[in-house]
Amino acid sequence: MTDLLYMSDNYIREFDALVQKVAEDYLVLDQTAFYYLGGGQSSDRGILSFKDATLRIDEVRKVEGEICHFAKDPIPFGVGTEVHGVLDWDFRYECMRFHTAQHLLSRYLQLHYNLNTVGNMIKPGSSRADFTPLEKFDDAMKNDVEVGVNDILAKELDVETLMMPRDKAISFLNKRGYQTRYLEMVPESVTEFRVLIIGDYDAASCAGTHVANTREIGKIQIGKSKNVGAGKQRIYFSLKAP
Ligand SMILES: [Zn+2]
Repeated sequence: MTDLLYMSDNYIREFDALVQKVAEDYLVLDQTAFYYLGGGQSSDRGILSFKDATLRIDEVRKVEGEICHFAKDPIPFGVGTEVHGVLDWDFRYECMRFHTAQHLLSRYLQLHYNLNTVGNMIKPGSSRADFTPLEKFDDAMKNDVEVGVNDILAKELDVETLMMPRDKAISFLNKRGYQTRYLEMVPESVTEFRVLIIGDYDAASCAGTHVANTREIGKIQIGKSKNVGAGKQRIYFSLKAP
């Protein structure tokens, strides 16, 4: 099993790791700071190197339980090589800002409009999330959401992630009035959850990467929206750096 370094520290940009497996177009490491595609967040990309040999990693995905670092070029490392990994930090940091912003957007829409978030796609430039039940997202609502979320961002809330045993995570979130129905659907074999806490405003289970304070996000700009099913609206948003 690959140790996921970002689970305890979202700001690790470089790391060393041992190559555990080499396949035709991917390799597996004993530990990694590369986020693997999941939870709506884009996977990291970056470079692995050993001495003069470097390899560009284009995508990281979990395949049959293995965290696979995919490359288009031939893999120049063998099993047992200690490689140095460097993330494409601009890309990753954008994902962090967008992911934390999406949680705040979702929370705002839950509190003020009773909407559930049923999907998301986090990537630099523009991200999106799907909300239900919502027939239409008019200009008045769009404006209210943009102003409301920007007020929260301006509070400079600290963001922290805590690992909690399953039962504790569910009761922690329940007691504070946060949603746990998705958590309860996770197979019992998962005994620990990572809980994301954004000041006193939001808490949720999330394995994604996040900023340490909402001041790093800047301002949200709500973009277009479209209908993506009965009573379901897809809302796009971008960020204006602080
Ligand atoms: Zn998340």
